[in-house]
Amino acid sequence: MSITRHLRRLLLAGASAWLLWTGSSTGLTGAQRNGVHLTPNGYRVPVYGMSVTRNAEGALGTECARLSAPEIERAQARPVSRALMVSYPHATVQATAGLTFTIIYTDAAGTGFNDAAAGPARKLALEAAVAAWSKVIQGTVPIVVEAAMETPDDPESTLLASAGPVDFFEVNGRAVPSSLAAQLRNRSLNNGGADIQVMVNEQADWDYSLNGVAAAGQASFVYTMIHELGHGLGFLDSFDAETGQLLNPIPFPYDVFVNRGSARRDVVTDHGADQLLADLTSNDLFFNGPKAVEASARSIRPLPMVKLYAPDPYEQGSSVAHVDQDTYADFKTGLMAPKDFGSGTDKIDILTLGIMADMGYELVPNAVTARAPR
Ligand SMILES: [Zn+2]
Repeated sequence: MSITRHLRRLLLAGASAWLLWTGSSTGLTGAQRNGVHLTPNGYRVPVYGMSVTRNAEGALGTECARLSAPEIERAQARPVSRALMVSYPHATVQATAGLTFTIIYTDAAGTGFNDAAAGPARKLALEAAVAAWSKVIQGTVPIVVEAAMETPDDPESTLLASAGPVDFFEVNGRAVPSSLAAQLRNRSLNNGGADIQVMVNEQADWDYSLNGVAAAGQASFVYTMIHELGHGLGFLDSFDAETGQLLNPIPFPYDVFVNRGSARRDVVTDHGADQLLADLTSNDLFFNGPKAVEASARSIRPLPMVKLYAPDPYEQGSSVAHVDQDTYADFKTGLMAPKDFGSGTDKIDILTLGIMADMGYELVPNAVTARAPR
């Protein structure tokens, strides 16, 4: 469904850069670990990105996965101080009754989002993606999104875009992304600094249509960014598939609802490392939060809990922090599915919203969501 200019050459060569990225992470530690970023507060966090893929039938698609260490460096390469932030173009997005977002466009003048010709359409599309979230979540403290475009160093990169929380704060024994922590504490914890960092591949073949639809062979900018912003808002786990432990001494909000099986409560955070490693590839993980369970019951797939993606072998960045690909493939609104997650909407589905609510976000009452799967 989407392709970058560089990828065309790559596909002709019959190779996949993505396979190279996920090849090995052994021998690296700390901030250099493949797919893990060390935040200023010292939390280790995976960074997710959307990439172009080709499936077994040769059709083009998208896949969400963790970024490699060099890609993370690239995505985080432009930290902007709060003093400087005011000098960049910015936009305020607030849907009726929803949370306010401020977007800071940190590209140099005349480039990326600030490009004189292409910039306005790019900004409108990002603001539409942000508005999709503002329409469904409430809160008292504005969320700051820092956005920039990049041309990947690797000319064969298939990366479309990435987004992640800038930092975490401890709230009630959990490592909570600043965007959510601010709402829970009713004040900004990072002095109004950026909560979510967004990086977009300027070379990708984007369709900027505001309704989330993409023309054949292009990627929907709006739909891709809605998904990635979901990770930036906290839809992410911190289970380390190499050690069977959490990446940090305390769990992310998402982690504590990850359940083995769906018949009874059996949270994997209670499990030892060996058991947890087995859990991560069990194809038997579910999200057990009450709001997610309620949303699941209202869906066309009324499972006792929301099924999560947990294939064997483990897929770095796709596993666990997405809903199950096979279970929800026909929803076409399964926004937080890991790959080819539907297209043609600028709204967020009820399973995703249930999970966000369980993590602590307050939802806009009676918000218009992606066509309820029933
Ligand atoms: Zn994703």
